[in-house]
Amino acid sequence: MREEILRFPIERIEEKLKEYDFSPRISNIGYVKSVGDGVVQATLLNSAFVGEMVVFESGVEGLVLSLKEDTVGIVLFGKDEYVKEGDIVYSTGKILQVPVGRGYLGRVIDPLGDPLDDGGPIFPERYMPVDREAPSIFDREPVKEPLYTGIRTIDALIPIGHGQRELILGDRQTGKTTIAIDTIINQKNYGTICIYVAIAQKRTNIARLVQTLREYDALSHTIVIATFPDEAPALRYIAPMAGCAMGEYFMHQGEKVLVVYDDLTKHANTYREIALLLRRTPGREAYPGDIFYLHAHLLERAAKLNKRLGGGALTALPIAETLAGEIATYIPTNLISITDGQIYLDTSLFNSGIRPAINVGLSVSRVGGSAQPRGMRQVAGRLRLDLAQYREYAMFLEFGTELDMATQKKIERGKRIEEILKQGAHEVQPIEEQIITFYLANGGFLDSYPVEKVKDVVVKYIAYLKLKASSLLVLLRQQLELSDQIIYQLHTTFQEFQKEYANLTTTQA
Ligand code: ATP
Ligand code: MG
Repeated sequence: MREEILRFPIERIEEKLKEYDFSPRISNIGYVKSVGDGVVQATLLNSAFVGEMVVFESGVEGLVLSLKEDTVGIVLFGKDEYVKEGDIVYSTGKILQVPVGRGYLGRVIDPLGDPLDDGGPIFPERYMPVDREAPSIFDREPVKEPLYTGIRTIDALIPIGHGQRELILGDRQTGKTTIAIDTIINQKNYGTICIYVAIAQKRTNIARLVQTLREYDALSHTIVIATFPDEAPALRYIAPMAGCAMGEYFMHQGEKVLVVYDDLTKHANTYREIALLLRRTPGREAYPGDIFYLHAHLLERAAKLNKRLGGGALTALPIAETLAGEIATYIPTNLISITDGQIYLDTSLFNSGIRPAINVGLSVSRVGGSAQPRGMRQVAGRLRLDLAQYREYAMFLEFGTELDMATQKKIERGKRIEEILKQGAHEVQPIEEQIITFYLANGGFLDSYPVEKVKDVVVKYIAYLKLKASSLLVLLRQQLELSDQIIYQLHTTFQEFQKEYANLTTTQA
């Protein structure tokens, strides 16, 4: 009787097991079928999912990117040579995460958070998933706080707000990176945390860029994530997502963050390279079909969070490279449709000495206008109009047409506006000084000076204000509005300045 009781449960279990139809196997182990160019095809690995981390027997890690009936496509974070055919690969059940925290500020790292500079180890505050849902419509509020780039043309005519996605696009060597770097430099006055993601850039370029940031005292509020053309494609592939994840961490702490992706054309090329190696069916221009989704999802993660979530923001400045000024090709059109506007750089403007070479007609900011401070709005409308008229009339000049006085005046005004919009690399200007500069141009204060003197007049006048009427600058910075009082003071101080300037130039001559 006793024996029977003991046997009974085992028999029951055996019987129960017969009811199930399964063949026992270990689902988180697979074998390398092929390896090359940083990409592995593995068999078995039945439990793997896209975005999962896997580990090879040599310790090299990889990321699952595609699932087919009989194989799993993996990109490697280490070198090819440490993985060979027949090696065992384990799936970990974990999605890819990156370390985040303030310790990364001022550092140059790879997308996995490992330092590339000689600043020693970095201690993360947390780990954040590389891929993550974008904030929902209920988590957000409209873009309404300005993000000043310090670049006159942009802050006046293509204003950007925190939480916006603004594309910078143009041919090679037209000043795309410079616009992004100058925006980062300008953030030191406004407390925005910056993340610069370099995708497949030369080491010398990165070294120069880091040097520039350091020189302008802008490295300490910036994280530089660098990837190079000659390393594992996996790193180049995850770089923008990793940068975004690091930014999200700060955004959720209520901080303002700016993330630059330089550039997404190279990112698209990396993804195409991987997809072709994984033998995925190529789509338009041989890019994988989901490239649009990949970039849309990345940029959707830019947001201005509402007060309940701390009011933080993540602004995205993706960069795209065009070929021969063609913006209608696949990747640029994708990005134009995903973003809230674009800053278009023009090779012919660049070569004719107009720098930054922003084509004002083709550039637009769809949401930043509501973030522009009132003082800038007071001057920008007029500026746009004068500039447009000037461009129109300038065509007549080329034909040598006789022009009436009024038209001539407009042309002279336009020339001066064009001149003050020119701005050297890294010469960012505080917003209140920009407003004054434009006020002078609009109000005809500069018309009596020759075009080549105009910039000098503005620079010296602002220096004069700093010396003799610094309270005016402080007031304008606080109010960001051209009140009657400020306008009155601008007029009187400019008259006084003119006398000094005249003396100065005669003594110089
Ligand atoms: P690439 O296609 O190689 O990435 P890019 O479009 O990012 O180039 P930059 O590297 O920013 O262009 O600039 C190209 C060159 O033009 C640099 O030597 C830079 O110093 C110069 N440059 C950019 N902007 C200005 C400016 N506003 N004034 C003077 N020079 C500038
Ligand atoms: Mg560049």
